[in-house]
Order: sequence, then structure tokens, then C-alpha cells
Amino acid sequence: MEKLKLLYEGKAKRLYETADPDVMIMEFKDSLTAFDGTKRDELLGKGEWNNQISAVVFEYLNGRGIPTHFLKLLSPRESLVKRLKMVPLELVCRNLIAGSMAKRTGLPEGTPFKRPVIEFHFKADELHDPLYTEDLILALEIVTEDELKNMREIGSEVNETLRAFMDERDILLVDFKLEFGYTNDGKLVVGDEITPDTCRLWNKLDMQKLDKDRFRRDLGDVAEAYQDVLSRVRK
Ligand code: UDP
Repeated sequence: MEKLKLLYEGKAKRLYETADPDVMIMEFKDSLTAFDGTKRDELLGKGEWNNQISAVVFEYLNGRGIPTHFLKLLSPRESLVKRLKMVPLELVCRNLIAGSMAKRTGLPEGTPFKRPVIEFHFKADELHDPLYTEDLILALEIVTEDELKNMREIGSEVNETLRAFMDERDILLVDFKLEFGYTNDGKLVVGDEITPDTCRLWNKLDMQKLDKDRFRRDLGDVAEAYQDVLSRVRK
């Protein structure tokens, strides 16, 4: 499958059209960004690690009956994915308090929730992806009640499945972000990527961070953390 027109270039990926209108090629870049792109760096190899981590995770989810856009790995930094019409919402699911939730609650990072928390953010860079209540999403008719329910259900399934998968690899799934889209035949599926850029992953043994917080917070050893995640998910 050949890359044709560049359809979209984001902070971490490029999307290319192919001869098949139903599929695209996703190419992962080496850029690392945080805080709405105000902090940036290049990390040689990061695109390859993330592409391969995402491929393993998506293949696992597909195998468990959770619908995703992923079709197959094409090369170290490219994957073949279904072409989607994206839903302008990000679903965030949390098992432990971290990041913006620590700020919002005043509770220390690492505090477990009694049950997973799912929230939605409206995708709009100029507004900094604000948190939207479900009521607001419905009142603005961003999606319907059924669509929202569907996303919540898939989000919960991803959480249960991925949490167990990571647990077997001695990694705690603290939180993660999902994006959704509709395939050309109208099916709602998980799109984008599932990587240490979009999940918080802590090493169970010593609670060391194995995700983008190493970059956000200047903790060092970013490459080592991403490579560690890749080698563990491959097992
Ligand atoms: N996240 C993401 N993209 C975003 C915002 C958040 O992938 O635009 C992920 C983030 O990596 C973390 C989870 O969603 O795994 C929850 O992030 P949080 O709301 O705590 O925001 P942050 O502290 O990252 O600003």
C-alpha cells in the first residue's frame, strides 16, 4: 500500500491517503510536545517506539472484540488504519489520581479511585481542550445520547482490558486518553494512538513513571521509559 496525499499533520503523526478510500497510512513522528505544544523536543526513535506500542495494544484490543481503526503494522514507524470521521471529543479514563485531576481535587497523585472515572474533553486547541460535562455535550449536540453511551462503554472495556494487559507486565495503568471516529461504513471505533504519549503508565515495582510525564516534568530517561514499555508490551 502506497502513501499518496498528505491528509493531515499533527504534533506527533502524519496521515496519508492511500488508493483505498477506506484506509490511511499513519506515520509516527519523533517529536515530543506538551502543554499545548508550547514545550517541544525531538527524540530520535520515539515515533518508531510509539507506532509499535500502539500496534501491539490495538491488535490486543481488536482480538478482544473492541473495535479500533488499526489494521496492520507496515514499517517501524507506519501503520495501516481505517479512515475515520473523527468525533471532536477526547475520552479520558482514570484509575488513579494524577495530572490535572490532582490539581482539580487537591488530592495527591497516586490516590486510587473507588471506581474508574470517565470524562470528556472538547477537542479545540484554541480553548485548550476544555472538560465538558455530558449535559453540555448533549445540549450542544456534539454527539447524541446513544453515541455518548457507546463511547463510555468502549472506554470502560478498553480500561478493563488494557489494565489487565499492563498489570501482567508489571505496569499500572493510571489514566489514558482515547479518540473515536466513524468508519466509512458508519461504525464507531477507537482511533488515534494508545502510547506513553496518551497514557500514564507507572512501573508497579517502584512507581517510576514510564510515560510522557518524564518529558513534561523533565525527569530524564524518556527514551529508556518508552523502550521499556515497548519491550514489555511485546512479551
Ligand atoms: N492526555 C492526552 N492528550 C491530551 C490531554 C491528556 O493524551 O490532550 C492524556 C494524558 O497523557 C493522561 C490523561 O490523558 O494520560 C489525563 O491527562 P490530564 O487530564 O491529567 O492532563 P495533563 O496532566 O496531561 O495535562
